Amino acid sequence: MAKTYYEVLGVAQTASFDEIKRAFRIKAKDCHPDHHAGDPVAEKQFKELAEAYEVLKDDQKRATYDRIGHEAFVNGMGNSAFSGGFGGFDFSGTGFEDIFAEMFGMARGRPKNKKARGEDIRLDLGLTLDEAYHGIKKTVTLNTYSPCAKCGGLGGKRLDTCATCGGAGVVRQRQGFFVVETTCPVCHGTGKAVQEPCADCRGTGRVRQKRDVEIDIPAGVDTGVRMRLAGEGDVAPNGGDRGDVYVFLNVKPHALFKREGNDLYIEVPVPMTTATLGGKVFVPTMNGKGQEYDVKAGLQSGTEVKLKGFGMPVLRGDRYGDLYVRFRVETPTNLSAEQKELLRQFDGAGKKNSSLCEDFKNLVSKIFS
Ligand SMILES: [Zn+2]
Ligand SMILES: [Zn+2]
Repeated sequence: MAKTYYEVLGVAQTASFDEIKRAFRIKAKDCHPDHHAGDPVAEKQFKELAEAYEVLKDDQKRATYDRIGHEAFVNGMGNSAFSGGFGGFDFSGTGFEDIFAEMFGMARGRPKNKKARGEDIRLDLGLTLDEAYHGIKKTVTLNTYSPCAKCGGLGGKRLDTCATCGGAGVVRQRQGFFVVETTCPVCHGTGKAVQEPCADCRGTGRVRQKRDVEIDIPAGVDTGVRMRLAGEGDVAPNGGDRGDVYVFLNVKPHALFKREGNDLYIEVPVPMTTATLGGKVFVPTMNGKGQEYDVKAGLQSGTEVKLKGFGMPVLRGDRYGDLYVRFRVETPTNLSAEQKELLRQFDGAGKKNSSLCEDFKNLVSKIFS
């Protein structure tokens, strides 16, 4: 289990921003690359610290981290092999540069006009095993903040420069060695001031709106798999970017098959006569076709066989798991008088057929004699 970002910084999960900042400053000094040039251990430690700080210093990222968990942040999609359209969190680009700038109180050129980003949204989605087997496109309705149509997401008319940030969209505060840069709380990063708030959105530039989004769920997903729909979450106030939607999948139990990872398990009843004499038994399979299985004479209840490749498809792979079939021999009930008589004749027909029962009897008498 990897360390959580809180553990990396050595702070409690309830730590305030100041506590987090202090912990980062103290720890980062100890392993800063300037003092440990060419030391891979210090470098790794510094990177871990920077990554943890990058997330925890940002209220929004921290909230997402608390809600979605460490694994989702570090591996993007947990252990699943998602790639392409659904990425994990992306720290490239801004993160480390910002941290260096903060560390040294240096602005690297003009400060970026940071656009605020809307909230991430969690969506729980149930699937049948059949849907998980084949993969499916599902349309879901999201009720998210969208740009207000009346004011075009600007929050109102007559846009002047924001007095708080002077139009930069960010406010920077020097705190000793550090310069802390945050999105302007007044204009939410737009750099503009609204003079006449829009009536529809009360100046926020966004309204709740239902939208249909199609989710392409690949074959092989299981409960616990999360999918990220980048840029489908809430839009930020006053024309910011959208957050993401995290889809948490839950595959419901199946009436016939039990699933463990990529393997499936099924119990198939076999008539006593087929088990005794041998014959064909129909085994259902997830591909809907089923298999005629040749049961050899003398099949015992509880016998398990593996049908290779008849399990679940491996997520983003081209293999399949296996199907484990457990046969359960059915003892007949409600016999007619004629059937009972036939069985009595069978029992008295001379030759002893049972070896299991004889072996068991012998073992019992040996132990208790
Ligand atoms: Zn509006
Ligand atoms: Zn501002």
